Amino acid sequence: MVGPVPKFDYAAAKAALYADFPHLFWQRQIPQSSMSYGPAIGPGWYPIIRELCVRITKAIDVEDLTDPKATKWGFAQIKEKYGELRIYGPRDGEGGPIYEAYEWAEEEASKTCEVCGRAGDMQVSSRGWYATTCQPCADENNNSD
Ligand SMILES: [Zn+2]
Repeated sequence: MVGPVPKFDYAAAKAALYADFPHLFWQRQIPQSSMSYGPAIGPGWYPIIRELCVRITKAIDVEDLTDPKATKWGFAQIKEKYGELRIYGPRDGEGGPIYEAYEWAEEEASKTCEVCGRAGDMQVSSRGWYATTCQPCADENNNSD
């Protein structure tokens, strides 16, 4: 058995992303934006989003992150839907480094528990909800139904 997942500090996790990657999260300041709540995902996927940001920032290769050449890659929305990680934002062409980073993140999330970050896969709960989780988290979820 695995222990309980430690309580996740969403506010701190979001603040850290905003501080490190202001060029990618500026749309959160637009009240009607889908980014105004930040990434709508579970704790287990936060490391994937961070790595995605690192890869995009490396690909942009601009020193000044307030430069429009950097901010034009800002995310429009990051969320979980039907158990999958969905990232909306500008991508370069297929095969480009930013396109590839998006692809990597969505693929990685499909095998990572959204709750705890361990290896996971798509699960369907007893209530018919789709989620990418590990087995212990899926059991936990079903038990709390
Ligand atoms: Zn899990």
